[in-house]
Amino acid sequence: MSMNRRALLGAGLAAASLPLFRAEAAAPFVGRGAPAWYRFKLGEYEVTVISDGALPLGKADEAFVGARPGEVNAMLTANFLDPANALLEQNALVLNTGRQLILFDTGMGESMGADSRMFGPTTGRLLRNMRDAGIDPAQIDLVVLSHAHCDHCWALVDANGNRNFPNAQVAISEADLRYWTDEGNIRGPAFMGPFIRGAAKNLNAYRDRMVMVQDGREVTPGVTAVSAPGHTVGHTIYTISSGPNVMVYTGDLAHHHILLLQRPMLEFAYDTDPKQSAQTRSRALEVFATDRPLVLSYHFPWPGVGRVAKQGEGYAWMPAPMDVTSLG
Ligand SMILES: [Zn+2]
Repeated sequence: MSMNRRALLGAGLAAASLPLFRAEAAAPFVGRGAPAWYRFKLGEYEVTVISDGALPLGKADEAFVGARPGEVNAMLTANFLDPANALLEQNALVLNTGRQLILFDTGMGESMGADSRMFGPTTGRLLRNMRDAGIDPAQIDLVVLSHAHCDHCWALVDANGNRNFPNAQVAISEADLRYWTDEGNIRGPAFMGPFIRGAAKNLNAYRDRMVMVQDGREVTPGVTAVSAPGHTVGHTIYTISSGPNVMVYTGDLAHHHILLLQRPMLEFAYDTDPKQSAQTRSRALEVFATDRPLVLSYHFPWPGVGRVAKQGEGYAWMPAPMDVTSLG
């Protein structure tokens, strides 16, 4: 017992209490964190954000490009973040409209063997976390995809190619479906091979139950697709409305809550068309700062729910307080 504790408790009390503090009584470490899901009401709807786990990107200034030398690292350091390993979260969404149960993006899954762990061992947790949240994958009626990258669609099927969501339709833009299932597009960066083979394996398993989303059209009542191209050719964000309550599911419109909000015109290494992506991002952030909808951002710090405010030449991410009361 330290001198401090002895001083706090008083020597007599400490001696009397000693058996309670025996080292042999130490509990083992549990070694597992909380189930990573977060539920709240959006108007008449029930919303559950489900984590697929953290996705470490590695060196920040190799993933986010177009800044002056040292600038990206300085922005991260000023915000207590590690420039050596930019960490993205993966915040998928389950929306219960009362009529349908809709999953937005699937996380990395386990469908592609070693490639499914290309960002390390902490991804691929969506199905486990979904079950912890009381949702059976067989209950999902519709999977809505922002785009066809690994961390958004590779859990459509399991390692054997069997559908993880046996009763679901899959909604995606036709542009992304075509691009990411076409082996003729395997060129350029090394990730293109696994990205296209993985998208094809996952998306082709649902070919008989595909829904093509279209800009400005409802995917299902309450959910409207908004084309947001650049990160991929058919990247799409979705507005979710219940009466006056609006939340925008922004997929990969912005990968980082500091770098790409303060500097929306920076480019991201995994963008198919980084310049178009930056323009799309800038326009959307301006709308968000003006209209002030609730935003769910896939890669922002857990649970990725907040709003966007104008700040200087760019924007600031304002996380929403966790709503732990609306569901009792
Ligand atoms: Zn992503």
